[in-house]
Amino acid sequence: MAVPKRRTTRAKRDQRRAQHDRVLAPNVNPCPNCGEMMRPHRVCPSCGHYKGQRIFEMEPEEAAQPPEETPETTAPEG
Ligand SMILES: [Zn+2]
Repeated sequence: MAVPKRRTTRAKRDQRRAQHDRVLAPNVNPCPNCGEMMRPHRVCPSCGHYKGQRIFEMEPEEAAQPPEETPETTAPEG
């Protein structure tokens, strides 16, 4: 079994990881239907369209409101 002769320094290790292990922001483009930013080659999460076709119907309540918080945090203490 091969054993490394020298320990890799923190600088060298981090330089190597900076090349291909870095975290990138997801690529987004404006949706041609609604204009919302969406990832390419995916169904638009805000309007449900893909390549000019409606893939799924948006629920009116889901589209209008952001997800609500749990009742514990919003309910006043008694
Ligand atoms: Zn859209």
